[in-house]
Amino acid sequence: MLSNNIQDALNAQINAEMWSANLYLSMSMHFEAEGRKGIANWFYIQYREELAHARVFMNYINQRGGRVELKAVDAVPTTWASALDAFKATLEHEKKVTALINNLFAMAESEHDYATRDRLAWFVTEQVEEEDNARTLIDKFSLIGEDGMGLYMLDQELASRTYTAPSILTEE
Ligand code: MG
Repeated sequence: MLSNNIQDALNAQINAEMWSANLYLSMSMHFEAEGRKGIANWFYIQYREELAHARVFMNYINQRGGRVELKAVDAVPTTWASALDAFKATLEHEKKVTALINNLFAMAESEHDYATRDRLAWFVTEQVEEEDNARTLIDKFSLIGEDGMGLYMLDQELASRTYTAPSILTEE
């Protein structure tokens, strides 16, 4: 069984993943409205990944005989000044998520809940990738600027991103 502490913390993480999902869906809708379909596509895939993260935590709580408790998800921002601005906001947000995952990992370890710690290990690795993806795009948008051909090319590049369910979800 999960301890009450761990169950509450995992439920809080589900809420955080759903906030992340809404953040990226909001970014997707913003860029779609601005006619930047490729950037909108990239954030829509990101939205789907965050929903999958929430689902992984839900499955895990249920597997451990716990109870999923869904709470209200806070409102997310709705506009960004530029694509660079949105990717900078993405990196800052992912750093916060990394801190949440690390705190959860430390809590699981201190409670000797090694099953939870091992599940969280996947997310530790995932966060390295999330931060790296955001940094790479910040670099590209910083380098190329957001006028004319450069922006068109980056928009085309981001249009090609496709969704793959996280391995941790498909293996279950
Ligand atoms: Mg996530």
